[in-house]
Amino acid sequence: MMLGFVHETLGQRVRFGTGTAREAVREEIGLRGAHRVLVVSGNRETGLTDDVAKGLADSIRFSEIVQHVPIASAERARKVASEFSADLIVCIGGGSTTGLAKAVALTTGIPIVAVPTTFAGSEATNVWGLTEASRKATGVDPRVLPSVVIYDAELTMSLPVDLAASSGLNALAHCVDSLWAPRTDPINQALAVEGIRALSSGLRGIVADPTAVGGYESALFGTYLSAVAFASSGSGMHHKICHVLGGTFNLPHAPTHAIVLPYVTAFNAEAVPVANARLAAAFGSLDGLSGLEALRTDLSAPRSLASIGLKESDIPHAAELCLAAIPRSNPRPFGLADVERILTAAWAGSPAVELSEKGNAP
Ligand code: NAD
Repeated sequence: MMLGFVHETLGQRVRFGTGTAREAVREEIGLRGAHRVLVVSGNRETGLTDDVAKGLADSIRFSEIVQHVPIASAERARKVASEFSADLIVCIGGGSTTGLAKAVALTTGIPIVAVPTTFAGSEATNVWGLTEASRKATGVDPRVLPSVVIYDAELTMSLPVDLAASSGLNALAHCVDSLWAPRTDPINQALAVEGIRALSSGLRGIVADPTAVGGYESALFGTYLSAVAFASSGSGMHHKICHVLGGTFNLPHAPTHAIVLPYVTAFNAEAVPVANARLAAAFGSLDGLSGLEALRTDLSAPRSLASIGLKESDIPHAAELCLAAIPRSNPRPFGLADVERILTAAWAGSPAVELSEKGNAP
């Protein structure tokens, strides 16, 4: 087969350094010559935010962080930014915090320095998301890609272990979906496979010893690789399903990803044998699904959408919304009944293998 593909690399300065976030933020503000900084961070990050603000000539803080970025919060933050004439946004927090900073950048063009505290990965993508009237809209815009990302594993060590595991599986989902998303290519596949390795060992390390920084460092590195792969390949079936579940049914982002991933993997993996073999190699397992399930077991990952608030009666409506959103390029053909089966199995937490082509065989 001839090699041929088009790959876009996003330009961003990325700093890794455990225990260095405070210093790194101050340095980056100085390098950018910023004078009026909008700090976007939730109440949990008050200590770090105060430390960062101490060295600044002029800063203002916006701390109304709401999951999935409701448009009303975005508009309030945009108003604060423009009234303050902010020339830089520093966001410190998880994907919801980064998402709010992106919403401001989308309409104002103000550059972002992102300091992530979860494994969501939003800081390394040019994707924005906003929720209005129970619908999550997403889009791609170069203005929302943070100019700088400061990764400091110490900031993730306060994550409760179950949230660290779910958040890490969210990052792992970026890797897995990248293998069959609409713009998948050999570069983002290579990043995705290495991301799976780093995330698998990092997350197992966190669960084994939540007080040791090594696992968080490895998971954070995997997070970055996963997000770069995802930004390049676009959203596949898995992300489209999770966006519907988060945006319309307000399910928590990371646990939703952690629960849905094996069902989409089971549905798709055998239709893409090369990707399945690469998943298996990355997990060190016989096939992609068994490696993912072994990891989920080790992490005590959440099992069912019912347990995080989806009602069984929501499934038909959710399936219709998902059907309209999932790319037709998905490697295994699908219809409404297939999407309903995926959602029903994930809702109940039944064995994912039943959705595979083999599992379906008479
Ligand atoms: P989140 O930002 O909502 O954080 C979840 C919870 O964890 C919050 O209560 C938060 O305060 C807490 N938290 C954050 N960091 C912590 C820490 N270090 N210690 C203890 N608690 C901490 O959740 P998330 O999963 O990070 O992000 C989800 C959001 O990010 C969703 O809106 C999703 O759509 C978005 N996202 C966007 C992209 C993208 O490319 N645009 C990618 C991934 C996720």
